[in-house]
Amino acid sequence: MGSILKYDGRYVSRVLALVALYYFTSRLGFSLASVAQQVTVIWPPTGISLAAVLMFGPDIWLGIFLGAFLANITMHEPALAALCIGAGNTLEALAGAWLLRRFAGPAPNLAHVRDVLCLILFAAIISTAVSATIGTTSLCFAGLQPWTHYFPVWFTWWLGDAGGDVIVAPLILTWYYNPYLSLSRRGALEAAALALAVALYGIVISSQSEMFGIAQFYPSTVFPLLIWAAIRFGTRGVTTVNFLLSAIAIGLTAMHMGPFSQMPTGRVLDVLQTFTIIAGVTGLVMSAALRERAESEETEQESRIRLDVVLDNIVDGLITIDEKGTIRSYNKACTTIFGYTAAEVVGRNVKMLMPQDYAAHHDEYVSNYMKTGKAKIIGIGRELEGLRKDGTLFPMELSVAEVKMGRGVRYFSGIIRDISERKNAEKRLQAAHDYQQEIIGDLRQKEVELLRYTQDLKRSNQELDDFAYIASHDLKEPLRGLLTQASFLLEDYKDRLDAEGLRRLHRLQYLSLRMEKLIGDLLYFSRLGRTDLAVQELDVGEAVSEIRQMMDTLLKEKNARVVVPRSLPPVVCDKLRMVEVLRNLITNAIKYNDKPERVVEIGFLEKARAPHGDETNVFYVRDNGIGIAPEFHEAIFRIFKRLENPAASGEEGTGSGLTFVKKIIERHNGRIWLESAPGAGATFYFTIGTIDI
Ligand code: ADP
Repeated sequence: MGSILKYDGRYVSRVLALVALYYFTSRLGFSLASVAQQVTVIWPPTGISLAAVLMFGPDIWLGIFLGAFLANITMHEPALAALCIGAGNTLEALAGAWLLRRFAGPAPNLAHVRDVLCLILFAAIISTAVSATIGTTSLCFAGLQPWTHYFPVWFTWWLGDAGGDVIVAPLILTWYYNPYLSLSRRGALEAAALALAVALYGIVISSQSEMFGIAQFYPSTVFPLLIWAAIRFGTRGVTTVNFLLSAIAIGLTAMHMGPFSQMPTGRVLDVLQTFTIIAGVTGLVMSAALRERAESEETEQESRIRLDVVLDNIVDGLITIDEKGTIRSYNKACTTIFGYTAAEVVGRNVKMLMPQDYAAHHDEYVSNYMKTGKAKIIGIGRELEGLRKDGTLFPMELSVAEVKMGRGVRYFSGIIRDISERKNAEKRLQAAHDYQQEIIGDLRQKEVELLRYTQDLKRSNQELDDFAYIASHDLKEPLRGLLTQASFLLEDYKDRLDAEGLRRLHRLQYLSLRMEKLIGDLLYFSRLGRTDLAVQELDVGEAVSEIRQMMDTLLKEKNARVVVPRSLPPVVCDKLRMVEVLRNLITNAIKYNDKPERVVEIGFLEKARAPHGDETNVFYVRDNGIGIAPEFHEAIFRIFKRLENPAASGEEGTGSGLTFVKKIIERHNGRIWLESAPGAGATFYFTIGTIDI
């Protein structure tokens, strides 16, 4: 029943208003009482009560109960009977509203057929039986009606209450749930015309004229009016017109006018009431059905529009054809794909979008499918060619689905994707792939050739080394002989030779000695390529200190210093050879230097830029000497290559020091390069690679 707060001023005023309305309308009803003084065929309070519970909730029961009690007690009924009847009427409204809510939803506005049917079944038929049974039994118990009259009284009671539920409740509910009226000028005019027609109906049926000789014919004229109201003004129109028509019919009958008053006495009001109920129900069902249909048409149209929007926005083309191949729908993407607009193709045969040879077989293919059910494309999808408006062909992917509509009509919908781009990309990819294969083939061949060259080179290097060794070794003997002979000559014949002879003999001795040196170098060089490395870890810093000590005299003599700016990391290498590399580079740095103070810097870099690319873990030997022009940066590594430079004219050498250095570095899988320019000093960089032991 809710909290105490619910019973506020609003509730009280609602209850009082309901009591008053109940009482007033019950008076109207009783004025038409026919079967018994307390039972009337027209009982609007039932409809009012039902609507009140639906609108304000079950708490309003008090108003119903008090209204019904008041209405009956004032009809000089015993208090107990009036109480029972009041309870019956209250129960009726509560049961009807509960059932309606339960089966038609919380707000049964009668806009749907389901609402109307629930109203008829649960309120008008079932709930009214409660009131009729309690009421009639009370009357009989109270002795106000003989038990023999039980059923006629029950029936009239039931019918009267049902009339209230069908005529009055819908009027209140439809206006309650939809109270606003917004009519256009034309709508208002039409409503006025309908009202006029209703009034005319009243005038005509009240005239009692014997048109067509059958007075009973007139009631049927309510139907056009109800249909008009239903079609043009919906549920509210129907409930209003229905209420007015019933009011006219009942009013006239009460005044003994109109067609119903002509009927056999006693049954007049029953017939009238039944007729009003039937007309009311018909009107309600019709307006609800019309509205549902309009709603579903609206939804259908809405979903159609939505579908069209979707179809027009998909990237793939979508075509629907019927069994004859006639195009029925064609989306926007198709226009882009084929070049035709929808207006140009819809209604025409789909063959227009196919190349000649395929089009020729299309009809045959479709009819064959119809007969045998054997499909080539349907449900599978495949690649075909399409024909554009401009006559060009393009590759497309087509997948077809069959759609069976009602009455055995079949449609085929095809999804089309223009795959020209993909095909082109595939072609390009293939070409790239072929090219790649070609290059790989070439590379393989080059690799084989390179391998052969390397092998050849190795062999010829080996041969060269062998030759150098043999040649220098074999040359040593006669050269030694030459030197000995020259020494003999100088010793034994120095008194007999003139100055010129002696000078030439000295020259011969010098040249032989030089040749011996050169041959020695050559022999050493060939040995560098042949002997194995004695690999071990070398502390480079320590090695530099040792070299510094070994060269102490020279350094002092030349006013030179060897500096190491930061500590040098150890390397795995052949120690003797590495010392030789450093000593050679340091010696050159001092030899080819015209500065009063010669500075040699030995360092290490994590990273350095070389002509052949970036290198890591690089050692360097830098001097402030005469420098080397870039065009000689390679030549200086060739054996016996010396550069002409007046600033270094006094320096002796065979031109093989750097050749040894390079050979040693290469044997250590390292690289050597330099940065230098005349007058700007020289920096020799080298790396030491990993050596297989
Ligand atoms: P050598 O010193 O016996 O002549 P190298 O092979 O050591 O033979 O050097 C080859 C030539 O490279 C030298 O003759 C010299 O002209 C040049 N050279 C070598 N090192 C330097 C240097 N640090 N500065 C300038 N020139 C150099």
